[in-house]
Amino acid sequence: MNSDVLKRGRVNIRKENRLSLKFMDISQGAAHFHGGYSESPDGIFTVAYADGHCEGSGDQGKWINGQVHLVKDNDLLWTKQLERPNDCAVSDNGVAIVEDWLRSKKSLGGKICIFDSKGELLFEKQFESNLSACGISRDGKHAVFSTAFPDNSIYLIDVESRVVLWRFKNTAKRVALGLSFSPENNEILVSTGQTSATKGLSYALTLTGVLSRESAEELNKIQQITHSNGPDPTETLLEFLLSTDPSKISKGLETLQSALYKKNVLNYQKIIPSLLSIIESNSLELSKSAMKIALMIGKKSPTLIESISLKIIAKCTEWLSTPYESENGLMTLGELGALNADWAIHVLPLIMDRLQRSEAWNERRFATFAIGQIGKTHPELIRDATPILARYLGDSAWWLHTLKDNSQETFEAADLNISISINDGVDPEVWLRDAALGVLGDIGAEHPDMVKDFVPMIILCLQRQEPYTRKRALTALCQIAQTNVNYITPIIPTIERIAEIETDPKVKSEARRILETFSPKTAERSVANVSDLIANLSIENKVSRYRSIQELERLVYSYSASLPQKYQQQVLLLLSKSPSILSNCVQRIREDIKNSNEEKTRWLLMESLIMAKRTFLDFIVAEYLDNGSFRCKLCNREFSRGGLRNHLSKSHPETWQLVRPYNDETLQYLNTKNQSGLSYEDWERQLLQGSS
Ligand SMILES: [Zn+2]
Repeated sequence: MNSDVLKRGRVNIRKENRLSLKFMDISQGAAHFHGGYSESPDGIFTVAYADGHCEGSGDQGKWINGQVHLVKDNDLLWTKQLERPNDCAVSDNGVAIVEDWLRSKKSLGGKICIFDSKGELLFEKQFESNLSACGISRDGKHAVFSTAFPDNSIYLIDVESRVVLWRFKNTAKRVALGLSFSPENNEILVSTGQTSATKGLSYALTLTGVLSRESAEELNKIQQITHSNGPDPTETLLEFLLSTDPSKISKGLETLQSALYKKNVLNYQKIIPSLLSIIESNSLELSKSAMKIALMIGKKSPTLIESISLKIIAKCTEWLSTPYESENGLMTLGELGALNADWAIHVLPLIMDRLQRSEAWNERRFATFAIGQIGKTHPELIRDATPILARYLGDSAWWLHTLKDNSQETFEAADLNISISINDGVDPEVWLRDAALGVLGDIGAEHPDMVKDFVPMIILCLQRQEPYTRKRALTALCQIAQTNVNYITPIIPTIERIAEIETDPKVKSEARRILETFSPKTAERSVANVSDLIANLSIENKVSRYRSIQELERLVYSYSASLPQKYQQQVLLLLSKSPSILSNCVQRIREDIKNSNEEKTRWLLMESLIMAKRTFLDFIVAEYLDNGSFRCKLCNREFSRGGLRNHLSKSHPETWQLVRPYNDETLQYLNTKNQSGLSYEDWERQLLQGSS
C-alpha cells in the first residue's frame, strides 16, 4: 500500500452494509483501501476512513497513520492522513467531519476536524475527553460530536463561524454512539447502546441545545420512576414496558434495573406479566435483558417470580437449542435453580444431560458452572453430579471423542460471516478440568463429605503441566480442608515441595498461602523473615525494595492474607516498632519518582508507592496498640484498622490527601496500566526487567 497510494480522480468502489457495520473498498490500479464509511443523506458523497495502527511490536514498532478519503460518485476528491480517524460524517455539499482519536495513550483526548469538499480545513480543535461519535447537518452548516466518560456530553459546532455553540450533558446512562440530524434538519438524534451494532435512538435535541418536547417528557417520566415522585411509578414504568417501540421498552428495562438497586417502591406483581411478555418476545436482546431483570427480582424474593417460573425455564430451554445462546441458557438455568429447590429439581436433568452428553465442550463447561450455582444453595440436589465432575479431572478419553468436530467452525451470525477457530489457544480438556476443580472446591468448602472421595484425583491434578490447573487444585484442596484439616495433612510435604521448586509465581504463592494457613511451622518462618523484609525497605535497590514491600503486603494487607490471626498480629507488631523506617520508605520512593526519567523505573516506583502506602499508612499516622487497634496520632482516638482510614478521610482530610494510596498521580498510573491490556504478571515482568 505504501508504493501504491490512492490519488485524486477515478476510483472503483464497493460498499458492504451488514447489520449496522459499513465497510467499503476503494481501488485505483494497484492501490487499494479498505475501511469504514459514511454517506451524505442524498448518497452523493462518501467519506471513508481507516484507523491508524502500529506495525511491529515493542520499540521496533512503527506508527502508520490512518486515512480518510472523500469520494463523490466515483471520483476521489481528497485524501488525508490522520493519526486515528474513527467515525466520520459528510453533508450533501461534501463538508466532512472527522473524529481523530489521536495516538497518545497517556491522556484522554481527541481531535475534531472539518474539511470542505476541496479538502480545505474549516475547523480543527482538540478536546480533553475521548470522542465517541460525530455527525453533520445536510447543509454542512452545523456539526455535532459527543465525548465519552467522564465528560459524556454532546457539542454543536457552527462550521462557518468555527465556534462551539453549546455543550449538552448526555442524559442517557450510556455514551452517545450515534449522532445524526433529523430529515427536517431541526433536531439532533442521539443514539446510545452497548455497541454500535446494538445502539438505538435515545433522545432528540433541538438546535438550541435542549431536549425536544417529546424527549423531555420521556426523561421526566423516567425520573418519576427512578425517584418515585409524581404519579404511580409502576404505572409509568408499564407505559414503557408495554410499548411497541423497542427503544422505549429498552429504556423501561434499563430504568427498572436501576430501580432494583434502590429502595423498593415498585409493585412487582404488576410488572412481572409485562416482563414475561418481553422475555417471550422475538427480540433476543430485549428478552435477555428482561430475563436478567427477572432473575434480579427473583433474588430479592423467589416468590415474586414464582408465577412465571415455568415459562422462563421454558425460554431458557429454548435458548439451549438456539445457536450461540446455549451457554447463556445453561447459566440462567443454574441461577434459577439456585433460587428455589423445586426449580432446581426441574432444571437439573437438562443441565445433567448437557454435562454428560453435549457435543460441544463449552456446553459441558457451562453445565459445570450451572451445577456449581445450584450446589451453593442446594448441595444435596447435586450429589449425583459430583462423580461426573470428578471424572473430568482425569483422562479425557471417555468424552473427548464424542465432541463434534468444531476445530474450524464457521458460523453465520445473523447476516454476518465470521469465521473463528474455536480451538484458538483453548484446550477443551484443560478448560473443563479447571471448571470442575473450581466447582468441586466450592462445594467442598461447605460440604467436604460430598467431595472427600475425590481428593486423591484433585491431588493428581497437582502434576498437570498447566500452571492454572495446579493452582486451582491447590485452592480446591485448601477449600476442602477448611472445615477439616485432616484432608490436607497427608499432602503437606507435597505442598512444601511445590512451594520450594515451583517456577510459576502464582502456583508458588498459592502453595505458600496454604502452608501458612495449615502449617504453623511455615507461618512461624514467615514471621521470622519479617525483620529482614523491614530492613530491606531502606536499601537502594529498587527491585528488592519492591519485592520486600510486596511480601509484607501479602502477609498483612491483601484480602487473601493467609496468615492465621495470631501470626498476622505478630507481623503488625513488628511493623509498628519501626514507624520511621516505614515513613522514610514512602518518602524515598516519592523522591525517587521525582528523580526518575526512565518510564519503566517510574512505573515500578509507582507500583511500590501504592503498595507501601496501602500496607504502611496505618503505622505512619497511628500507634498500634496491644489490643489490636490503632490510636490516631493527630487526635489520640482509637480505631480498628478499617475504621482508622475512614476516620482520617473524614476528620483529617489534609493528612489523608498525603497518605492515601489512590490520588491523581497513582490513579493515572493505574489507568496507563489498565490500558496496556497486559496481565498483572506480564506488566510486572516488564517493570522488573526495565528497572534496576
Ligand atoms: Zn484523628
